[in-house]
Amino acid sequence: MNPLLQKAVEQPYCLSRDERIALLSLDDPSELFAAAYEVKRRRTGRSVKLRGLIELGNSCAKDCFYCGIRRSNRQVRRYRIAEADAVRMARWTFERGYGSVVLQSGELESEGNTGYIERIIRSIRDFAGDSFGVTLCLGEQTEAVYRRWLDAGAHRYLLRIETSNPQLYAAIHPAGHSFERRVECLWTLKCLGYQTGTGVMNGLPGQTLGDLADDLEFFRTLDIDMIGMGPYLPHPDTPLGKGIELTPEYAARQLQLGLKMIAAARLYLHDVNIAATTALQALDDRGREQGLLAGANVLMPNVTDVEYRRDYQLYENKPCLDENSEKCRNCLNWRVLSVGEQIDWNNRGDPPHFRRKGIYEAQF
Ligand code: SAH
Repeated sequence: MNPLLQKAVEQPYCLSRDERIALLSLDDPSELFAAAYEVKRRRTGRSVKLRGLIELGNSCAKDCFYCGIRRSNRQVRRYRIAEADAVRMARWTFERGYGSVVLQSGELESEGNTGYIERIIRSIRDFAGDSFGVTLCLGEQTEAVYRRWLDAGAHRYLLRIETSNPQLYAAIHPAGHSFERRVECLWTLKCLGYQTGTGVMNGLPGQTLGDLADDLEFFRTLDIDMIGMGPYLPHPDTPLGKGIELTPEYAARQLQLGLKMIAAARLYLHDVNIAATTALQALDDRGREQGLLAGANVLMPNVTDVEYRRDYQLYENKPCLDENSEKCRNCLNWRVLSVGEQIDWNNRGDPPHFRRKGIYEAQF
């Protein structure tokens, strides 16, 4: 095995910036994927944790240049799932053994939205008890709001930094979207005791391999527990996506880069949870399975009622628009088995990294 990979398999945090760039530049990444898979196997076994994803609503106060549900996109029909329906979807997720649920939506900061989320979390805790994971992915909020949701029973939060390069961040967001605030939110979530996740988009226009190597260091500096990242995919009704055509060559490049980032993150950080995200599947029907073989250990199947899925398109080519959750569940099980892995049913799947820090015992 390549000595660089050998070193990284044995020890976390040991790759320099140049070495991380070297891994991301490999023409033939098969050894990189195999090395990352070996670390994953040692840390989490050949098992996959599930998080059922509920896309609660697509109204968003933000206007990110890459995102299909940005505020200025008038083509989108806005929706918000009624509380009782959201709770029903979460209960289905629990009863089907998924182990945890993710509540995701556009970013809204209002008392109406805070209370709506709070009530849904409480209802989930009422029927599921503590053995079920509740992750939030609801954007930037004040410390008081994060605390309310924690008190209601959420214990994980996913907030992607999108890119750790402040200049690139500024280039893909309008004025008024603050990189510093996003970083501060991540620190707040950590201080409050959330299992904290972040991530970036790979293959953004203007992004370099150096930026991605720095993203990995950012994850380390924040002592992050979970990573949800994926390839950037153009959306035709956005300023960033307008001129980009999703050709087969472009798709293949974006997929390879996404897989390399998963592998590099596994080799650099070792014991974090890493999701093989839907964006990989949008590029290749077996993209998520390839993500598992490159070091990911989490899948986030969509459990939102089909009628809403078309209205939550962050990017082009979103998969499973017409497949109901029952069908997705069977398909997923088969897909995971096909790469020699097994779903860890009914396990809420706390990241080993978080348990190692000892906060786990104190809080639960
Ligand atoms: N607004 C919420 C969550 C919804 S968006 C939040 O900020 O947490 C969830 C993620 O989808 C974003 O963080 C972003 O990384 C990703 N995303 C948005 N548009 C995308 C695109 N065009 N291609 C790939 N990923 C995209």
